[in-house]
Amino acid sequence: MTTLAGALDVTAVRADFPILTESVNGEPLVYLDSAATSQKPRVVLDAERAFLEHENAAVHRGAHTLAAEATESFEDARAAVARFVGAGPESIVWTSGATSALNLVAYAIGNASIAGGPLALTRGDEIVVTEAEHHANLIPWQQLAARTGATLRHIPVHDDGTLDLVTAADLIGERTRIVAFPHVSNVLGIVNPVADLVALARSAGALTVLDACQSAPHLPLDLPALGVDLAAFSGHKMLGPYGIGALYGRGEVLDALPPVLTGGSMVTTVTLDAAEFLPAPQKFEAGTQPVSQAIGLAAAVRYLDHLGMQNVHERERVLEKRLRDGVRSIPGIRLLGDTDVADRVALCAFDVDGVHAHDVGQVLDARGIAVRVGHHCAQPLHRRFDMTATVRASASVFTTEAEIDTFLDALSGVRAFFG
Ligand code: PLP
Repeated sequence: MTTLAGALDVTAVRADFPILTESVNGEPLVYLDSAATSQKPRVVLDAERAFLEHENAAVHRGAHTLAAEATESFEDARAAVARFVGAGPESIVWTSGATSALNLVAYAIGNASIAGGPLALTRGDEIVVTEAEHHANLIPWQQLAARTGATLRHIPVHDDGTLDLVTAADLIGERTRIVAFPHVSNVLGIVNPVADLVALARSAGALTVLDACQSAPHLPLDLPALGVDLAAFSGHKMLGPYGIGALYGRGEVLDALPPVLTGGSMVTTVTLDAAEFLPAPQKFEAGTQPVSQAIGLAAAVRYLDHLGMQNVHERERVLEKRLRDGVRSIPGIRLLGDTDVADRVALCAFDVDGVHAHDVGQVLDARGIAVRVGHHCAQPLHRRFDMTATVRASASVFTTEAEIDTFLDALSGVRAFFG
């Protein structure tokens, strides 16, 4: 693995990612689709493999040595991921990804609403989201509202992509029970003002749920310091494996939430009539967990820590500026969320006048450039900007200036190509 002091050495970083030597359509791969899924450094691949080759056993049960070693590695992984977000291990619940983490919260609150208690929602209660949600942080709340009779409301997005905090302050009030929002939108790349939204939610006594999918890979993250009650993030977007993610929760919130999935590994005493549950996080982790994936994710966060998240953020700000300045200088392109007022990650989504996003994607692909096209699971946000599909380019720790320039060069020829 590369060793670094201070700023990020991109050449050394690139050598850690085996896939970057691939060619696509006869061209060197230019991977600008990290917001959809990140590439994985060798340490992550090695960590999963080493666990499976040397330690694999069912965790949390069995008296044999291998099971004890597997359990230790699994719990070490939880501690490493917790540290990465500034938290203690008891506040990290393993999930299969951010979608399952956010659904876990919504279903747990749904269960609480049946049982009654402090987290129960009833008719007339309100859940507030933003117009910039990924569907994973929208549909679970729609469904929860439908099940409980609560009303779903949304904070609008300004023309420049920033959230309308004046309307947010009007919306969030005594009926508000939950405020769910993205740290960084996966379409706009803008870092949202978490402190402002947390303050509004707190003054209303509402629970905050942060979708940290697009911030965890790119920014130093301290979830307790941000003051959110719950947060979700996803392993495969932060250099880690598929099938692993986490729900972070403040102790008293996790304590108050009932479990969703029930079964083995989350109980103390079980009779034919009833069961007693372990405390969090185990009460949310019924059944066999994605153990090797958790160990792979721990390797990913150790790798990111080694690079230094402040270095990562600063490096990606340089790439972001080059990317956005370049895209905006090409005639006939409309960028979503083109603002300098906010902090950002290196991601931009845009429309090319007269050319469908899928066609743009194909022209770029012919040059070995991987971007995402479509609505990026954010249909309401696209509708807000009168669009159905955009092209999204997103960078990572291994992206070079030369790759951004290759992308911009190919993009500037797209309209001419389609005549
Ligand atoms: N939230 C945001 C902002 C995302 O970008 C994504 C993935 O595209 C998700 C949630 C869903 O994450 P996962 O793939 O871990 O379910």
